[in-house]
Amino acid sequence: MKELKHLNKYFKKYWFKLLMGIIITIIARVFSLIMPSYVSKSIQAIEGFMGNTLNKLEARELLFEYILIIIGAALLSGLFTFLMRQTIINVSRYIEYDLKNEVFDHYQLLNLSFYKKNRIGDLMNRISEDINQVRMYVGPAIMYGINTLTMFVCVIPLMFIKAPILAAYTLIPLPILSVLIYQISKIIHKRSTKVQEFLSTLSTFTQESFSGVAVIKAYGLEPKIHAEVGALAQEGKDTSMDLAKVNAWFFPLMILLIGISNIFVIYVGGQQYINGEIESFGIIAEFILYVNMLTWPVAIVGWLTSIIQRAEASQKRINEFLLEEPTIKNEVEEATPVSGAITFKNVSFTYEDTQITALNNISFTINPGETVAFLGKTGSGKSTILDLVARLYDATSGEILVDGKPVQQLNLNSLRSSIGAVPQDAFLFSDTIENNIRFGNEEATFEEIRDVAKKAVVHGNIEGFAKKYDTILGERGITLSGGQKQRVSIARALLKDPRIYLFDDCLSAVDTETEEEILNNLKQVSENKTTLIVSHRVSSAKNADKIIVLENGAIIQEGTHAELNNIDGYYKELYMNQLSEKE
Ligand code: ADP
Ligand code: MG
Repeated sequence: MKELKHLNKYFKKYWFKLLMGIIITIIARVFSLIMPSYVSKSIQAIEGFMGNTLNKLEARELLFEYILIIIGAALLSGLFTFLMRQTIINVSRYIEYDLKNEVFDHYQLLNLSFYKKNRIGDLMNRISEDINQVRMYVGPAIMYGINTLTMFVCVIPLMFIKAPILAAYTLIPLPILSVLIYQISKIIHKRSTKVQEFLSTLSTFTQESFSGVAVIKAYGLEPKIHAEVGALAQEGKDTSMDLAKVNAWFFPLMILLIGISNIFVIYVGGQQYINGEIESFGIIAEFILYVNMLTWPVAIVGWLTSIIQRAEASQKRINEFLLEEPTIKNEVEEATPVSGAITFKNVSFTYEDTQITALNNISFTINPGETVAFLGKTGSGKSTILDLVARLYDATSGEILVDGKPVQQLNLNSLRSSIGAVPQDAFLFSDTIENNIRFGNEEATFEEIRDVAKKAVVHGNIEGFAKKYDTILGERGITLSGGQKQRVSIARALLKDPRIYLFDDCLSAVDTETEEEILNNLKQVSENKTTLIVSHRVSSAKNADKIIVLENGAIIQEGTHAELNNIDGYYKELYMNQLSEKE
């Protein structure tokens, strides 16, 4: 139960509703107990008439009265059972809601490296399947638990008071039932976990083959994929059949044990009645009703045990993530406005998971309003520099200063909101183009959106779509070309109008003419903004005040256009060639 302690704060939050739920549950059970004893009394009334202690009229009146009581009690018990579900199950939904928010909020705080360590499927499972298991504990488990407890506390003593020997015989099969149900529940859980795992394998597989359908068709891989799906489906069938087999045992077993209890009641009760050890035949009817009332709660005990174990395992998995501390945290409460000076002092960075040293002792300074281009081959560490500026990672050694202060001493939100980043792999949401651009600034007017789209030279393309800015992107809509995506992503950054621009190779899929046009527009908008342009193409650097050339995570050249004209080696050649290409 250690892991489930995490939920106590929620129990505290909803203590009043839970308490009401518990009281209502007890009331509902107490009303349901009225019925068996009045059935017994009704039979005694008939016995009284047969034994001539009551006349016809008296017996009829008594029967009528008892039946009214039974109906009244049943109605009240029904009403309270309804209220019981309404309160306790609702509380479990509230807790589920709170817990999902808690987990999701925590996910958002965690570093990028956390997302590299854990599979997306895992993150999704914890927030859906695992939380669902936990909800079963806070809702149904508590409800049935109290229900069962009340039932035992009321019914069992009542049975022993009315007919002790008969009670003992009747109750013998019930603990056996409980243990059996527990065992079956465990097997059911094991097998249903397998089915779950299989379903997630299947959905990953199908999702991947649907996303990659173009490649599959182009390579004629349909028969191979078909065979693989066939094998998976076979496996799925086998696991589901395994589950169905144990599931099928559940009810027959319950019915068998109820049957045994009923036989005990009738046989032992009958004997006792014949021997005059119990006063009325009604007791036997009453006991049969008790047995039927008790079976479900008894079965529930076994089921509950397995629910609690499952909830515990799920909560353990959730806690693992909740205990994960983000290493990149906001350590400054008050907002810290950023004007845009960036200094790297002997910065080195090693990716934790791959142990690749992406940056090796890098130092440079960018003054506010300057434009600096980072050139270098792929893998030279350009993107890593931009990630460090946005504090998506913290440097392994060395210091990164923004406005002369170590980045850790800036308010994280102030820092990030003063940055307009266009990442290398432009990510667009499955939403309208307008909303994808608006992401940069929620309050922007449509005119402003159109304006930045023009500056990013994508307005023309958007106007070409039937629904223009309302065109839906992604799965349910249009797939943009790589270059169009990059330009929408640039428009998004421009709309934010930040102090610092980070452009990560964002013109790589754009033709040279359009590139030229965008660069000219960017020159205007980034006039007094600090701008870092990353590219593997020298042409992107044409407006830069300074160029930094990287190789294998180290700066190999640095200077203005004029200075770089005098350098030797590969980059000079590259630089000259590409410049002359343009002319
Ligand atoms: P560039 O942007 O110049 O192509 P990057 O900064 O993306 O280079 O990468 C530098 C090095 O770091 C590469 O060797 C790359 O494989 C590695 N790397 C980049 N991103 C990650 C990551 N998220 N996890 C592990 N290694 C990475
Ligand atoms: Mg890169």
